[in-house]
Amino acid sequence: MKIAILNAIFILCCCTWKILALPDTIFIGGIFDAHDERQELAFRYAVEKINADRKILPRSTLRAHIEKLPADDSFHASKRVCKLLRNGVAAIFGPQSENTANHVQSICDAKEIPHIETRWDYKVTGDVYSVNLYPHPPALSQAYCDILTQLQWKNFVILYDSNEGLVRLQSLLQQKAFSITIRQLNSDGDYRPLLKNIKRSGETKIVLDVAHDTVYNVLKQAAQIGLMTDYYSYFITSLDFNLVDIEDFRYSSTNITSIQLINPKDPQIQQFVDSWVQGELRHGRNLPQHLRHITTEAALMYDAVHVFAKGLDDLDSSNTIEINTELFCESGQTWRHGNSLINYMKWYSPRPYGGNPRPVSPWPPSPYSNMSRYPYYDRLDGLTGLIKFNTEGFRSDFQLDIVEVDVKEGLKKVGTWTQVGGANYTRSWAEAVETVETNLHNKTLRVSIALTPPYAMLKETSMQLEGNDRYEGFCIDLIDKIATIRKFNYTFQVVADGNYGSKSRTTGEWNGIVRELLDHKADLGIVDFTITYEREEAVDFSMPFMNLGISIIYKKAQKKPPNLFSFTSPFSGDVWIYMATAYLGVSVLLFILARMVPEEWDNPYPCIEEPEELENSFTLLNCLWFIIGTFLCQGGDIAPKAVSTRIVAGIWWFFTLIMISSYTANLAAFLTVERMDSPIEGAEDLAKQTKIKYGCKKDGSTFSFFRDSNIPTYQRMWAAMSNSRPSVFTESNDAGVERVSKSNGMYAFLMESSSIEYEIERKCDLTQIGGLLDSKSYGIALPPGSPYTGPISSAILKLKEDGELHILKTRWWKERKGGGRCVREASSAKSSGAAELGLAHVGGVFVVLIGGMVIASFMAICEFLWNARELATDENASFCDELSSEVKFIIKCSGNTKPVRKKAPSTPEEPLFTYGSYGANYGYSERK
Ligand code: GLU
Repeated sequence: MKIAILNAIFILCCCTWKILALPDTIFIGGIFDAHDERQELAFRYAVEKINADRKILPRSTLRAHIEKLPADDSFHASKRVCKLLRNGVAAIFGPQSENTANHVQSICDAKEIPHIETRWDYKVTGDVYSVNLYPHPPALSQAYCDILTQLQWKNFVILYDSNEGLVRLQSLLQQKAFSITIRQLNSDGDYRPLLKNIKRSGETKIVLDVAHDTVYNVLKQAAQIGLMTDYYSYFITSLDFNLVDIEDFRYSSTNITSIQLINPKDPQIQQFVDSWVQGELRHGRNLPQHLRHITTEAALMYDAVHVFAKGLDDLDSSNTIEINTELFCESGQTWRHGNSLINYMKWYSPRPYGGNPRPVSPWPPSPYSNMSRYPYYDRLDGLTGLIKFNTEGFRSDFQLDIVEVDVKEGLKKVGTWTQVGGANYTRSWAEAVETVETNLHNKTLRVSIALTPPYAMLKETSMQLEGNDRYEGFCIDLIDKIATIRKFNYTFQVVADGNYGSKSRTTGEWNGIVRELLDHKADLGIVDFTITYEREEAVDFSMPFMNLGISIIYKKAQKKPPNLFSFTSPFSGDVWIYMATAYLGVSVLLFILARMVPEEWDNPYPCIEEPEELENSFTLLNCLWFIIGTFLCQGGDIAPKAVSTRIVAGIWWFFTLIMISSYTANLAAFLTVERMDSPIEGAEDLAKQTKIKYGCKKDGSTFSFFRDSNIPTYQRMWAAMSNSRPSVFTESNDAGVERVSKSNGMYAFLMESSSIEYEIERKCDLTQIGGLLDSKSYGIALPPGSPYTGPISSAILKLKEDGELHILKTRWWKERKGGGRCVREASSAKSSGAAELGLAHVGGVFVVLIGGMVIASFMAICEFLWNARELATDENASFCDELSSEVKFIIKCSGNTKPVRKKAPSTPEEPLFTYGSYGANYGYSERK
């Protein structure tokens, strides 16, 4: 009971003490630049608000003393501060301009009066008696870096108006990852010359660091110059971009990103602005339109007054403070509570987990050694978010909204930035893509083309056509299909100089379609446009729509006239020689073995049981006859009987079987397949010779391929091509193909395989020689940084997956404009007896036959003459008589019998054997 009474008395004492601690009226001073009405309004409104709602400083009323200053008038600033100090103010707010603010700061430091600022200040070390609610510039600079990194900006221009801007962007400039051009806007308000320069330089990304009221002017002039198109992106560093009238730029599809500390769409802010306007109305003042919007600095001023009030309230609850002390600038007197108050203000920080005490002291310069004397505050959320200061008294741990200009919503929040987490886009990838796709709807894109068959051609018609109807081709259809998917319109324009795009070695300037894209005179470039490293550096490319490589187009090889002895082709010359050697070798071996083995020696007269002589059938001639007979699958009339001779015969038959089968199998192919006679088989062959000239399209990707190649063969080819006179380079692929057609095999053209495919479908005397020298693709080119690269690429992928690209290719390669002609011709040639063998193919066999017959006849004549001579000698008749009687008998051509011409025996005891046949009776006799 006693304890309870004591407690009650203690509490009562405490309350009484608190009630008595602060006076009814607390004076605070505000110094504002004369032109800055918003700051003053925010200051006054904050004071009114605190006085009205009584949550902070419930027993006291804030009374504001306001002093207005001409900008940068430091003399008057000092005088006004002294005046305020004489009035006994507990804190001084403002001013915004740097020079005057520094004066005010030094006086406040001297008098130990808290100075509360809300302005951009690049001081690295804070003043003891000052807090600044404006986000600390190094932190802001970090935010710019993080966001630009997130946006994947690498090259950009910084446009700034005051030197302060350079300081602000310092850490951006120090980043090695960025390649930055810095340009200062002149002060006369005409930015066009500078903007034109930027346009000419090809830069598409611009960081604009100017005051919010200059932003509109710069953007408007940029739009006049043509720098507000789909291809340009802006990052605006001003925290008050929401005050800029973006209506004129909203539909330009220009990517404009900015950051904001306050969200004007936030209900708290809107309520604040409403009550601000209403409050002024109550005081009989209708606020002009420009004051009905809140700036970041005004919101910071509102928060600053709250920070002060809360700090004072908290100081009051733990200390007895004397307030409204009149101070004189001339005296050395100071306010002894100033230090404590400023420390309490700086102390604001959220309690980590719902109110647990802060574990570590963040405040080393504290005049208090006992940390437990510091209260732990609830988090202080103002209009500008969480209010927290670092040890130097600079605003820290603030959060920025990343905003973008959106067609539908105007300024749209797309992410946030925090010091710890960096830039985080809350917008999903799908949302980002959808935004770009929406921008593309109903837009009319200018599509640059070059007239190259079958990619883009003029329609052949007698009708007068206009606009897009004039063109047809693979690329024309492809664009149409992409436009249907992405719902945009398009107009074709033929590139003025007819080039696709090559970079001048001397000036570094691009020509052709690339030039038009860089100048933003075209939105898309499509033709057989090869994606190369150099072009990719200058412009953007979509996903490839066709893959190809460099190859050679050349006159089709002439058919080789069939060889008279093509029946020998199945075996090479070597094989024929080996076979002949084998034939002779085996015949001789058989002859020798047959003489060696007894089984091959037979009784010539089987009726004589014990013959005096044995006979061997395998004479050398018989061996040759047997081996050739079996080789030609005709068999022989003698057969080996001994094991060894049979082995020889068996192995020979096996050899014969394999050789004859191989010959037969190969013969069909050799007689029916037509041999082509081409002097070159590939690039290597071209490089090795000098007779056949070769070239490619001038300034195309094939030209660059050879010019820049490190491969020795291609380097040699480049040297040959570039030194050739007259030039082997052509203005177009068509010209090259024509030159090949007319050159009669003396010119080969290096061209991309897809285009070769197209040509050889129609020009049947031309063909592709060898394989591909490289591998590359065609893509649609877009200006650098074009937002439409993604949607166009995904449309190409869709068309690929749906097989539409294949259908288009078949249509333009094989069906339209004479496609498939050569295939038809080839198949009709085949069906009209391509399989027949002519005399040219088998003529050699007849030659052999005739040759054999001639030799046989010759042999017969020789034998005939020999026989006639022998008969003449035997009968002692003249050779001519004998010859004429024999010839007469032959010429008679009748009768199959002939009388035996008996030969007079040379010795009486020798029996006379006669053979009388045609065969046996023919006049042939042999003495045994
Ligand atoms: N497709 C090539 C280019 O984009 C043109 C033809 C060629 O060089 O073979 O330049």
